[in-house]
Amino acid sequence: MMNNPYDWIDRSLQTIHRAGWTRHTRTLTGLPGTVINIDGQVLLNFASNDYLGLASDDRLIQAAIQATEGYGTGSTGSRLITGHRQLHRDLEMAIATLKQTEDALVFSSGYAANIGTIAALVGKRDLILCDAYNHSSLRNGAIVSGATLLDYHHCDLVQLSQQLETHRKQFQRCLIITDSVFSMDGDLCPLAELFDVAAAFDCMVLVDEAHGTGVLGKNGAGGIEHCGCTGRPAVQMGTLSKAIGSLGGYIAGSAPLIDFLRHRAASWIYSTGLSPADTAAALAAVTVIQTEPDRRDRLWQNIVYLKQKLAQLPNLPLLPSDSAIICIAMPNVQTAMNFSQYLQSAGILALAIRPPTVPTSRIRLTLMATHTPAQIDQLVIALAGAVVNAPR
Ligand SMILES: *Cc1c(COP(=O)(O)O)cnc(C)c1O
Repeated sequence: MMNNPYDWIDRSLQTIHRAGWTRHTRTLTGLPGTVINIDGQVLLNFASNDYLGLASDDRLIQAAIQATEGYGTGSTGSRLITGHRQLHRDLEMAIATLKQTEDALVFSSGYAANIGTIAALVGKRDLILCDAYNHSSLRNGAIVSGATLLDYHHCDLVQLSQQLETHRKQFQRCLIITDSVFSMDGDLCPLAELFDVAAAFDCMVLVDEAHGTGVLGKNGAGGIEHCGCTGRPAVQMGTLSKAIGSLGGYIAGSAPLIDFLRHRAASWIYSTGLSPADTAAALAAVTVIQTEPDRRDRLWQNIVYLKQKLAQLPNLPLLPSDSAIICIAMPNVQTAMNFSQYLQSAGILALAIRPPTVPTSRIRLTLMATHTPAQIDQLVIALAGAVVNAPR
């Protein structure tokens, strides 16, 4: 009799399905935007991370085409071998200028940036303090690093201080990791206060600006700028795949930090450089963010408009939010699924976010600068219909 060592996978899948945690992909055809064709249905898109509508912007598309024609499709090696182009350096300098830091380094994804950077900054003798709602890439970076990992309650700086009081002295280095905008809730970390706590206990801070960059701050630099913390020592992380409309991740910070990562961040050293197309598109996007603040203004007008409209609807409790991510609390997984399905039948793409991704189910809406008021009205009408008609 032979045992099949892969049998457990079927059993695991059955458990996942029974819990209502089944996931599947949807096929998008054509350009991304506020109206998309997904699984053959034309839907109004309230589920995109393309906050400024740049992923289908002709200037980014042309930049990617020109870079591909000039430099080829692949960068052909890691940055330290044959994968480095002037384009990479231009993008890094543009990010450093946007963030008002001395330097920056681009990685093949935001996920890789977090894993490689956290594991480079701390190790076995060190301590990491992690917000309970942090993104998976921060948490997994912390695990890979081998440092002692302690969670603090979401945005609870009192508990954070208590943990530092109790544990800080037993460790060499200490790193606090946090999202600036929490990706599944849309609320903000109180960064100014967090930096004060970090300074009091001699801690480094890594801030994940995946949903802040291009959205928050007078110049679009992100949550750090929004909270008046520009110039404070920090490890600023972000992605090129959300408001920047391309693919890749980055770290911005002091010149020694960036130089150190070039020597110690394994996910940068041993991974292929960003493709010319992705690099050029991201560079074009950073230029747009710097030169067209009215795009960001339009996004914020849309956020304010939707919140005003939602406040007039009964039975739609909103989670706290100060970003382009607005979540409606759902009592359970099934109601969330029914809501999302009803919205889809009304021509709206808005996704149910469920455990284990988040502790409680919700409908997560994201706004784009390119949404029109009429499109937002349509969303609100559909939500009102879902309150009445979606099975609870
Ligand atoms: C999307 C996201 C990442 C990962 O970025 P990718 O470039 O998509 O790998 C990291 N942190 C947060 C908070 C994110 O939302």
